[in-house]
Amino acid sequence: MSGLTLQNVTKEFGTFTAVKNVDLTVPHGTFVCLLGPSGCGKTTLMRMIAGLDLPTDGAIRLDGADITRVPTHKRDLGMVFQSLALFPHLTVGENIAYSLRIRGVGKEDQKKRVDELLSMIHLSGYADRPVAKLSGGQRQRVAIARALAISPKLFLLDEPLSALDAKLREAMQVELRQLQQRLGITTIVVTHDQREAMTMADTVVVMNSGEIRQAAAPVEIYRRPADTFVADFIGMTNLIDFSADSAGRATVLGTVVENLAVPAGLSRGVLSVRPEDVHLTAPGHGAIDAKVTFVRDLGGTIETFVEGGGKQIVAVSMPNARPDVSVGQDVGIKLSSDACVVLKS
Ligand code: ATP
Repeated sequence: MSGLTLQNVTKEFGTFTAVKNVDLTVPHGTFVCLLGPSGCGKTTLMRMIAGLDLPTDGAIRLDGADITRVPTHKRDLGMVFQSLALFPHLTVGENIAYSLRIRGVGKEDQKKRVDELLSMIHLSGYADRPVAKLSGGQRQRVAIARALAISPKLFLLDEPLSALDAKLREAMQVELRQLQQRLGITTIVVTHDQREAMTMADTVVVMNSGEIRQAAAPVEIYRRPADTFVADFIGMTNLIDFSADSAGRATVLGTVVENLAVPAGLSRGVLSVRPEDVHLTAPGHGAIDAKVTFVRDLGGTIETFVEGGGKQIVAVSMPNARPDVSVGQDVGIKLSSDACVVLKS
């Protein structure tokens, strides 16, 4: 198959297992983000894909060929790592042409390719500038162009945008995704930023303690997190404990909630309820009792914080459906059963 395949990839450092039995398929032309908290093994996995570390066990294939033990420079990769390592004494053009020059590409062809890449990263006319005179975002784009100069089969980026300020970072996320789609290049990015992963990726791979917890499209991760770790890490949801009786009737925050599809045999668990699916009503009539603690009006959306059964829950609404509530008011919470994801605790 074309693309990258990881099969049972494991990395041990002494007695510590940094990456455990990772199976992952990255189809040709897709964009994958490795996402997870610090120390979960993202960089270690990336280093094995890049050939900078050898797996203790397992196999890595690129377009069907086993590359597990192939050295980095023979893997046909473009890499951008956190420390950009642009050559400070060279110009933009010389930086981008670097790998072409060491591959013996002729001067004319180098220039043609550099011009092509500069236009692609919106820096036409910058070839003769010293890189020291570029802004952070411009340097980032030059690093990307330099990595793409040889038209690699696989494009690897480890926290490429982490040195940029929030606004530039968001703009670069869109730019990077658009560039990847235009080139159709198989791309893997390491990040610990959920929004960044959700913005760019076809597939988000959520890792914890060296293992993949879920690998799915962003919308799938958002709508159907595989477990409480994923739901909590993505962080855009309310996580609420529940208990269930033998008939599968759930008690949530002290109130029995009808129609919740609790799997047979599950006596307790956690509900993941997205803020836009929390509806505030009058107290009573089967609603969960709660009190409004804070209202945050962000213009485009309104977040209402309520406390019910000792737990803080957030409801989000659009300005045209603004809840008519104020801080301190008693309210009821209604959870529509089809909006709740039941997770094992
Ligand atoms: P971060 O987001 O902080 O960069 P990460 O998810 O990329 O974290 P890794 O750098 O892959 O995490 O590290 C995973 C685990 O493996 C960590 O506990 C780290 O301390 C350990 N580790 C990484 N490299 C080595 C090494 N060369 N020797 C021993 N342990 C290592």
